[in-house]
Amino acid sequence: MKADLHVHTEYSPCSKTKIKDVLIAAVKAGLDTIAVTDHNTIKGALLTKKLSKDVKVIIGCEKKCEYGELLIYGLKKEIKSKKFTGIIKEARKQGAKIFISHPIDYARFPNMWKKLNDEVFKLVDGVELYNGRNLFNKRVKRIAENKKLAGVAGSDAHYSEELGNTYVIYKKDLWKEVISNKASYYHNNNVLNKLKYLLKSFLLKWF
Ligand SMILES: [Zn+2]
Ligand SMILES: [Zn+2]
Repeated sequence: MKADLHVHTEYSPCSKTKIKDVLIAAVKAGLDTIAVTDHNTIKGALLTKKLSKDVKVIIGCEKKCEYGELLIYGLKKEIKSKKFTGIIKEARKQGAKIFISHPIDYARFPNMWKKLNDEVFKLVDGVELYNGRNLFNKRVKRIAENKKLAGVAGSDAHYSEELGNTYVIYKKDLWKEVISNKASYYHNNNVLNKLKYLLKSFLLKWF
Protein backbone atom coordinates (compact mmCIF):
# COMPACT_ATOMS: atom_id res chain seq x y z
CA MET A 1 0.00 0.00 0.00
CA LYS A 2 1.13 3.52 -0.72
CA ALA A 3 1.16 6.50 1.63
CA ASP A 4 2.17 10.03 0.57
CA LEU A 5 2.89 11.61 3.93
CA HIS A 6 3.47 15.25 2.95
CA VAL A 7 0.65 17.02 1.11
CA HIS A 8 -0.42 20.68 1.11
CA THR A 9 -3.82 22.17 0.28
CA GLU A 10 -5.20 25.67 -0.11
CA TYR A 11 -5.10 25.87 3.69
CA SER A 12 -1.36 26.53 3.28
CA PRO A 13 -0.51 30.12 2.30
CA CYS A 14 1.77 28.75 -0.44
CA SER A 15 -0.69 26.37 -2.13
CA LYS A 16 -3.91 26.89 -4.04
CA THR A 17 -4.82 23.24 -4.42
CA LYS A 18 -8.49 22.59 -3.70
CA ILE A 19 -9.20 19.67 -1.41
CA LYS A 20 -11.33 17.92 -4.02
CA ASP A 21 -8.39 18.11 -6.43
CA VAL A 22 -6.05 16.64 -3.80
CA LEU A 23 -8.42 13.68 -3.43
CA ILE A 24 -8.79 13.19 -7.19
CA ALA A 25 -4.99 13.29 -7.60
CA ALA A 26 -4.49 10.83 -4.72
CA VAL A 27 -6.82 8.28 -6.31
CA LYS A 28 -5.22 8.81 -9.71
CA ALA A 29 -1.76 8.20 -8.19
CA GLY A 30 -2.99 4.96 -6.62
CA LEU A 31 -2.40 6.15 -3.06
CA ASP A 32 -4.17 4.37 -0.21
CA THR A 33 -3.21 6.93 2.40
CA ILE A 34 -2.28 10.60 2.41
CA ALA A 35 -1.21 12.83 5.27
CA VAL A 36 -2.40 16.38 4.81
CA THR A 37 0.31 18.53 6.35
CA ASP A 38 -0.54 22.19 5.81
CA HIS A 39 1.74 24.83 7.29
CA ASN A 40 0.88 25.34 10.95
CA THR A 41 -2.74 24.20 10.76
CA ILE A 42 -4.80 21.02 10.69
CA LYS A 43 -7.84 22.73 9.12
CA GLY A 44 -7.10 21.41 5.62
CA ALA A 45 -6.49 17.91 6.95
CA LEU A 46 -9.75 17.83 8.89
CA LEU A 47 -11.74 18.90 5.85
CA THR A 48 -9.93 16.47 3.55
CA LYS A 49 -10.73 13.62 5.91
CA LYS A 50 -14.37 14.64 5.98
CA LEU A 51 -14.62 14.72 2.18
CA SER A 52 -12.58 11.60 1.41
CA LYS A 53 -14.35 8.43 0.36
CA ASP A 54 -11.58 6.25 -1.06
CA VAL A 55 -8.38 7.50 0.55
CA LYS A 56 -7.37 7.21 4.18
CA VAL A 57 -6.46 10.68 5.48
CA ILE A 58 -4.03 11.28 8.33
CA ILE A 59 -4.59 14.53 10.19
CA GLY A 60 -1.27 16.30 10.22
CA CYS A 61 0.50 19.60 9.90
CA GLU A 62 3.94 20.96 9.08
CA LYS A 63 4.78 23.00 12.09
CA LYS A 64 7.46 25.68 12.12
CA CYS A 65 9.75 25.99 15.13
CA GLU A 66 13.03 27.78 15.86
CA TYR A 67 15.11 25.04 14.15
CA GLY A 68 13.00 24.49 11.04
CA GLU A 69 9.86 22.49 10.32
CA LEU A 70 8.35 19.35 11.83
CA LEU A 71 5.91 16.95 10.24
CA ILE A 72 3.35 15.90 12.81
CA TYR A 73 0.87 13.07 12.24
CA GLY A 74 -2.24 11.99 14.10
CA LEU A 75 -3.46 15.27 15.57
CA LYS A 76 -6.86 15.99 17.05
CA LYS A 77 -6.44 19.70 17.64
CA GLU A 78 -4.13 22.56 16.65
CA ILE A 79 -0.70 22.83 18.23
CA LYS A 80 -0.26 26.24 19.80
CA SER A 81 3.43 26.31 20.70
CA LYS A 82 5.99 27.72 18.26
CA LYS A 83 9.01 26.27 20.06
CA PHE A 84 10.53 22.85 19.42
CA THR A 85 10.12 21.43 22.93
CA GLY A 86 6.66 22.93 23.36
CA ILE A 87 5.50 21.44 20.05
CA ILE A 88 6.91 18.03 21.03
CA LYS A 89 5.09 18.16 24.34
CA GLU A 90 1.73 19.10 22.77
CA ALA A 91 2.07 16.54 19.99
CA ARG A 92 2.96 13.72 22.40
CA LYS A 93 0.00 14.60 24.59
CA GLN A 94 -2.17 13.95 21.52
CA GLY A 95 -0.36 10.69 20.77
CA ALA A 96 1.00 12.08 17.51
CA LYS A 97 4.10 11.03 15.56
CA ILE A 98 6.84 13.61 14.91
CA PHE A 99 9.39 13.71 12.09
CA ILE A 100 11.88 16.38 11.03
CA SER A 101 10.87 17.80 7.62
CA HIS A 102 13.60 17.72 4.93
CA PRO A 103 16.43 17.85 7.55
CA ILE A 104 19.00 18.66 4.89
CA ASP A 105 17.89 20.77 1.94
CA TYR A 106 20.28 23.53 0.93
CA ALA A 107 17.70 24.94 -1.48
CA ARG A 108 15.65 26.00 1.55
CA PHE A 109 18.41 28.09 3.05
CA PRO A 110 17.97 30.00 5.36
CA ASN A 111 15.04 27.83 6.40
CA MET A 112 17.05 24.63 6.59
CA TRP A 113 16.87 22.60 9.80
CA LYS A 114 19.35 24.17 12.22
CA LYS A 115 19.97 21.53 14.86
CA LEU A 116 20.74 17.96 13.86
CA ASN A 117 22.07 16.14 16.90
CA ASP A 118 21.20 13.33 19.28
CA GLU A 119 19.47 15.70 21.66
CA VAL A 120 16.95 16.47 18.91
CA PHE A 121 16.82 12.95 17.43
CA LYS A 122 15.83 11.40 20.75
CA LEU A 123 12.74 13.61 20.96
CA VAL A 124 11.36 12.84 17.50
CA ASP A 125 10.25 9.59 15.85
CA GLY A 126 12.52 10.09 12.88
CA VAL A 127 13.20 12.18 9.80
CA GLU A 128 11.62 12.80 6.42
CA LEU A 129 13.84 10.43 4.48
CA TYR A 130 12.48 11.28 1.03
CA ASN A 131 10.89 14.62 0.15
CA GLY A 132 9.59 14.98 -3.41
CA ARG A 133 11.10 18.46 -3.74
CA ASN A 134 14.41 17.84 -1.98
CA LEU A 135 17.57 17.60 -4.08
CA PHE A 136 19.57 16.37 -1.08
CA ASN A 137 17.65 13.25 -0.03
CA LYS A 138 20.85 11.19 -0.29
CA ARG A 139 22.46 13.19 2.49
CA VAL A 140 19.40 12.72 4.67
CA LYS A 141 19.56 8.99 4.03
CA ARG A 142 23.19 8.89 5.12
CA ILE A 143 22.34 10.50 8.46
CA ALA A 144 19.29 8.30 8.97
CA GLU A 145 21.34 5.16 8.34
CA ASN A 146 24.13 6.36 10.56
CA LYS A 147 21.85 7.22 13.45
CA LYS A 148 19.38 4.39 12.77
CA LEU A 149 16.47 6.81 12.47
CA ALA A 150 13.04 5.87 11.18
CA GLY A 151 11.91 7.62 8.01
CA VAL A 152 8.78 8.91 6.33
CA ALA A 153 8.38 10.00 2.71
CA GLY A 154 6.10 12.39 0.89
CA SER A 155 5.78 14.52 -2.21
CA ASP A 156 5.54 17.89 -0.39
CA ALA A 157 2.94 18.57 -3.07
CA HIS A 158 1.85 22.18 -3.35
CA TYR A 159 0.32 21.40 -6.76
CA SER A 160 -1.99 18.43 -7.22
CA GLU A 161 0.12 16.93 -10.02
CA GLU A 162 2.98 16.41 -7.55
CA LEU A 163 0.93 14.00 -5.42
CA GLY A 164 2.32 10.48 -5.30
CA ASN A 165 5.74 11.31 -6.75
CA THR A 166 7.24 10.15 -3.43
CA TYR A 167 5.65 7.80 -0.90
CA VAL A 168 6.02 5.09 1.75
CA ILE A 169 5.23 1.52 0.73
CA TYR A 170 3.79 -0.56 3.54
CA LYS A 171 2.06 -3.91 3.94
CA LYS A 172 -0.43 -3.55 6.75
CA ASP A 173 0.41 -1.25 9.63
CA LEU A 174 1.94 1.99 8.34
CA TRP A 175 3.35 3.35 11.62
CA LYS A 176 4.55 0.03 12.97
CA GLU A 177 6.45 -0.61 9.74
CA VAL A 178 7.84 2.93 9.52
CA ILE A 179 9.04 3.02 13.13
CA SER A 180 10.65 -0.43 12.92
CA ASN A 181 12.33 0.48 9.60
CA LYS A 182 10.40 -2.21 7.73
CA ALA A 183 8.67 0.09 5.25
CA SER A 184 10.10 0.79 1.82
CA TYR A 185 9.97 3.90 -0.31
CA TYR A 186 9.34 5.21 -3.77
CA HIS A 187 10.85 8.58 -4.50
CA ASN A 188 10.99 11.27 -7.12
CA ASN A 189 14.43 11.14 -8.67
CA ASN A 190 13.70 13.58 -11.42
CA VAL A 191 15.89 16.62 -10.77
CA LEU A 192 14.29 18.67 -13.55
CA ASN A 193 10.87 17.97 -12.15
CA LYS A 194 11.98 19.05 -8.69
CA LEU A 195 13.54 22.23 -10.05
CA LYS A 196 10.38 23.00 -11.98
CA TYR A 197 8.22 22.99 -8.87
CA LEU A 198 10.79 24.76 -6.71
CA LEU A 199 11.03 27.50 -9.31
CA LYS A 200 7.29 27.66 -9.79
CA SER A 201 6.79 28.17 -6.06
CA PHE A 202 9.69 30.58 -5.79
CA LEU A 203 8.50 32.76 -8.65
CA LEU A 204 5.10 33.01 -7.08
CA LYS A 205 6.77 34.04 -3.82
CA TRP A 206 4.98 31.19 -2.17
CA PHE A 207 8.03 29.21 -1.26
ZN1 LIG B 1 4.69 25.61 1.52
ZN1 LIG C 1 5.83 21.06 3.08
